[in-house]
Amino acid sequence: MGLPVKGTSIGWAETENAAPEIRRWATEQLLCLWRRQRHRTDSVASWGDEIEYSLFNLDPRTERATLLLDQEKVIRQWQESPASKEEPVILQWEWANYVVETTPAKPYTGSIEDLLNVQKNMKRRREIVNGFLMPNQHTLSLSFFPRAGADGQWTTPHGQNETYHSVCSLPRYRIVPENIIGRRETSKETCYPIYQDTQTPPFYDILPSGEEVRNHLCLDDLEIGIGCCSLQTTFQTSNESEARWLHDQLIPLAPIFLAMTAAVPIWKGYLVDTDVRWQRFGDVLDDRRPEEMATIVGLLPFTRLARDLTRECQPPRWTWNRTYISEEKPSGLESTSPLQPMNPAIKQRLLDGGMDESLATHFASILSRDPLILTQDDMDNLNTSNTKLFQLLQSCVWHAVRFKLPITDAGPGWCIEFRTMESQLTDEANAAFAIFSYLLSRAIVTMHLNFYIPIDKVGESMEFAKERDAVRRGRMWFRRTGWSGSTAISGSMCREHTHRMNGVAKGEYAFMTADEIFNGESGPDGFPGLVAIVRLYLEQSKMPEAEQAKLESYLELVSKRASGENPTPATWMREFVRSHEDYRQDSYVSERVCYDLMREIVRMNEE
Ligand code: ADP
Ligand code: MG
Ligand code: MG
Ligand code: MG
Ligand code: MG
Repeated sequence: MGLPVKGTSIGWAETENAAPEIRRWATEQLLCLWRRQRHRTDSVASWGDEIEYSLFNLDPRTERATLLLDQEKVIRQWQESPASKEEPVILQWEWANYVVETTPAKPYTGSIEDLLNVQKNMKRRREIVNGFLMPNQHTLSLSFFPRAGADGQWTTPHGQNETYHSVCSLPRYRIVPENIIGRRETSKETCYPIYQDTQTPPFYDILPSGEEVRNHLCLDDLEIGIGCCSLQTTFQTSNESEARWLHDQLIPLAPIFLAMTAAVPIWKGYLVDTDVRWQRFGDVLDDRRPEEMATIVGLLPFTRLARDLTRECQPPRWTWNRTYISEEKPSGLESTSPLQPMNPAIKQRLLDGGMDESLATHFASILSRDPLILTQDDMDNLNTSNTKLFQLLQSCVWHAVRFKLPITDAGPGWCIEFRTMESQLTDEANAAFAIFSYLLSRAIVTMHLNFYIPIDKVGESMEFAKERDAVRRGRMWFRRTGWSGSTAISGSMCREHTHRMNGVAKGEYAFMTADEIFNGESGPDGFPGLVAIVRLYLEQSKMPEAEQAKLESYLELVSKRASGENPTPATWMREFVRSHEDYRQDSYVSERVCYDLMREIVRMNEE
């Protein structure tokens, strides 16, 4: 749901003026919060998922699929209905007015009852949203609508030529993009290579700067981005230290799970040569000025496309993580680029306030950014009576893995949010990835698994993960010695092993396929695979065999996804388009093809 905002926003000029004061008070608020919560413990490994659903109209008469700008209608009716207090679900606001975010009303535990409830709960959420729509209207867990941004695709029944003002929902979702443009003073575009099919004609597009790009599709509208939907999972840990360990181990896994769940092969009515939504939302939320984007260009090794790797001076707000924070992290994993932005006074204050080097660095890199929205209410509350300014800054940095402090004593404890997965087309697949990520998080914590790789390798993996069919055709960096049968049995032995470790020696991590990472490498020294590790975790947690068997179909789905037997949504959609009778092998996805694709996805969920 994102940033908490009360009252009307002050404009960008005033926001920018107030930024130093806001950073200072946000830092003080963080220190107060951290001191209050640092010894907090929670005994239950609770967790939950979030899924963003898009709202569609399917008109059988005209054979057109269009997006419905009805989020507000749905959520207001939901809030007014008695069911909102009784149903086991929460409906929430999201950026785009055609998206509704949903979560379970209560976090899950690891009990078999709860795990088997995940898929049912997801189904119930769609049923509830559907209940507020007309008969030909549907709620789909589609990561992005294939023709969004083409003419007349947005807004039925509200009109044809909507601007982002009507596509953004609540005022705060309009003001943040406005302030981002206000800050960076230039336009920002995304260029995706057009997928080259047998009859694809030469393709030209024009950048906002007027520059012509060949065989690339240029996306510059805000609304082609803010409606991207994902599947996120949040895990509560027993204390701060465990949260920091889990945070770090999930960082190298984030690109791998992005590739595994890839779901966006079509933009603006064209097949493109990438498969994921991930960076597009980030491009929309990129507020960097030209001088903050100065680049170092190097050649990315191993890539099929042999394209240049561009490393920014300052990463965008939406990005892979640059900071490992566990007290037990090995040395020598830091980036070769300096961590930016970094306000030394903020970092010093956090160190003086008692934080260690890694934690202070992590939070200083977040708190060094400008606020993206401020209200008069914020300006009247420059104090440490609450944590709003801290939350305002933290919630506008969208890392692949988010480290969450306990904000209130009564609310969730130390949590980690895993944010790269794309929403899947069916409840079953969403449930499989949610449950698998939870079980893996438990294996990481209880077996103290070590997946550390140098942080720059995570960035490289993120590039590989965006490539078309990365699961079957690509490789990503993975620490293949993060496991050994003997160390894993005993957490304490593993801990010692980590302490002794000084950096990561060559050969400990490797460039591996998703199949090897999930289903294991052959040979006695091979990595056993994440699926086998999850199975062992279930055995060790003493879950009865009959109960474990009930989770088998989810583990199998993930395993088959990694082996390629179960296609990613992106591969499935690309193949659906390519085999449609109306498709001309020219990369163009017509209204009719799009309509049939949407109908098929609706049908899959009715089975
Ligand atoms: P965000 O803005 O960070 O995405 P949301 O409120 O949208 O936050 O989602 C919170 C997520 O955290 C949901 O998946 C929810 O199920 C989960 N969650 C809530 N309470 C707990 C808890 N005590 N332990 C673990 N997960 C929780
Ligand atoms: Mg969301
Ligand atoms: Mg959310
Ligand atoms: Mg959110
Ligand atoms: Mg979230």
